[in-house]
Amino acid sequence: MVTTDADLLILGAGPAGLTAAQYGARANMRVLVIEELAPGGQALLIDALENYPGYIASVPGTCRSGFELAQDMHRQAASFGAAFITQTARSLHKEGDIFTVCLETGDTLRGFAVIVATGAKHRILDVPGEIEFTGRGVSYCANCDGPFFKGKKVFVMGGGDAACDEAQFLSRLASQVVLVHRRDRFRSQKALAERVLRNPHITVRFNTRLLEIRGANTVSSVLLENILTGESYEEAGDGVFIFVGTIPQTSLVPSVEKDENGYIITDQEMAASIPGIFCAGDVRACPFRQVVVAAGEGAVAAHSAVAYIDRIKEQGDWGAAL
Ligand code: NAP
Repeated sequence: MVTTDADLLILGAGPAGLTAAQYGARANMRVLVIEELAPGGQALLIDALENYPGYIASVPGTCRSGFELAQDMHRQAASFGAAFITQTARSLHKEGDIFTVCLETGDTLRGFAVIVATGAKHRILDVPGEIEFTGRGVSYCANCDGPFFKGKKVFVMGGGDAACDEAQFLSRLASQVVLVHRRDRFRSQKALAERVLRNPHITVRFNTRLLEIRGANTVSSVLLENILTGESYEEAGDGVFIFVGTIPQTSLVPSVEKDENGYIITDQEMAASIPGIFCAGDVRACPFRQVVVAAGEGAVAAHSAVAYIDRIKEQGDWGAAL
């Protein structure tokens, strides 16, 4: 008899992985979630989830942060019996119907199906000074580092939802926020863009790019270029917050099918191109990346994985080690 550590292995404990864990465990599967950091993923960076269904920013006590939502999702999944391991997964391979995840410690975990919910990480701009001043004026997280810039002037780079959201957040702390975007219009949702454009504490510089971040011990200025005129100029400031998109974390599944940007392609059941691998959340090819979308995809992925595992078990003589 072949034994496994779990029925369903879930890689990543952001909103997608946590929701999948809850649905999988509630369907009576032995669920094991492997996460290298704290539960929550990128949602941990969100100050107020004002667009999450049922969270009303104007009603005190209903709108929660990404951290609070992640804590609740984690507790909920655990209450249905999902188990969690805080470890870095190094590799994933399939032999017959069994998937094996190798951990950094050298231990291995085996299951019948895998949900990849590893999310995405921030992209860097790769300009001089960016690496050098990271942690000394350059940041990728307004929630984490914003309070260090109370009463100071900061630059925000990017034109998507993240840049607009974080510029709004920083405008409550910094004396001035300069939002620098390379194009003449935002990529973000219209409502976010309009709020930024109306905010008197935010100055928007369209058609502008960052050439260099300068300073001694900490950031003291940036070198900007007006793309239309080619003119470059130095502008004083204390911080640079960079939100220029994300990179999907797919190193554990090098051979599943991906789109041109490296996001995993699935069918509508969240099944990836390798049978038994399902995918949900920011790592999946999807035009709209939101916490609510990740949670919904996690539920679908778990539902599909449960059906897949049932089929596999019907065909074989499987036992359990957990
Ligand atoms: P994004 O939507 O991909 O936007 C990235 C922005 O950075 C774009 O404006 C892009 O410019 C700019 N950019 C990319 N590379 C650049 C470079 N080398 N130099 C200068 N600018 C560069 O990424 P995101 O804003 O991080 O959002 C990621 C996902 O999370 C999205 O799906 C988003 O909807 C979601 N999200 C949602 C919320 C919310 O709903 N509140 C909050 C945060 C994130 P171009 O426009 O010129 O391409």
